[in-house]
Amino acid sequence: MIVKNPLELMQDAMRGGYAIGAFNVNNMEITQAIVAAHAAKQAPLILQLSNGARKYARTEMLVDIIRSMERQYPDLPIIIHQDHGDSLQTCQSAIEAGFNSVMIDASGEPFEENVRITKEVVDFAHVRGVIVEAELGTLGGIEEHVSVDEKDARLTDPEEAVQFIEQTHADTLACAIGTSHGAYKFSSDGKVDVERVKEITKRLPDTPLVMHGSSSVPQEYVEIINKYGGDLAGARGVKEETISEAVQYGVSKVNIDTDLRLVMTAIIRKILTEDPKQFDPRKYLGPAREEIQKMVEHKIDVLGSANKIRN
Ligand SMILES: [Zn+2]
Repeated sequence: MIVKNPLELMQDAMRGGYAIGAFNVNNMEITQAIVAAHAAKQAPLILQLSNGARKYARTEMLVDIIRSMERQYPDLPIIIHQDHGDSLQTCQSAIEAGFNSVMIDASGEPFEENVRITKEVVDFAHVRGVIVEAELGTLGGIEEHVSVDEKDARLTDPEEAVQFIEQTHADTLACAIGTSHGAYKFSSDGKVDVERVKEITKRLPDTPLVMHGSSSVPQEYVEIINKYGGDLAGARGVKEETISEAVQYGVSKVNIDTDLRLVMTAIIRKILTEDPKQFDPRKYLGPAREEIQKMVEHKIDVLGSANKIRN
């Protein structure tokens, strides 16, 4: 069910030392795979929609797919989340469409402006029972129209984080700890600042933290893509051990998008190359869906969220 108490789910995760996977959805197959994986593992889940996804498929279409999955698995706790909301208007329209969680990302603004914009969204959302994720600090990498040079990426300051939460009353906080969006996270062996997570959690023990850009970019899929005509040389992600460690220190929501894209692309490339006469979309989208489900089940083990559904 689409839960009425999303914050409780996040706080359960924080206290229980596990994280809820937040997977981006764009279409039917990806949504089915993510939900089926969580049902099989009995894990709570966050389905998140970016502005790009909302434009691509129409918000209402994706919400209806999620509602249909909800009827298929009525006991599964689901949060529908706006990923990287860029304005109050975006968050309002998400809430009106039935989302129970929104992110307002004003992290590109100066501190005071970030506080002001975030507070506006919090005031609108909280009276409607919707929780708000805000961001402080700047991630590297590229996501849709946002491009921040890796070297200019600014990590979250723990003291500033305390002031930010006190002033905005945001429910959860996306922290910049050295990860970035996309498939090219590090030019060499990248470092994720897990110590910083520890420092922020020490100061904000009731605020679940969110880790963006947390795909691990599994090399087996990168290799399949490259073998069957793709060109993703040098793609690199966050080590799964690092994610597990961050989760132990207070990260309660882990965002994963790139890995889903990689799996889908790898399977489709392989099938179409090996069977050039194939032209039935079900024959490549179906196996891609199965493989995404397998990968998501593995992610649930990394996050420790299996069998965490409250009765
Ligand atoms: Zn993000």
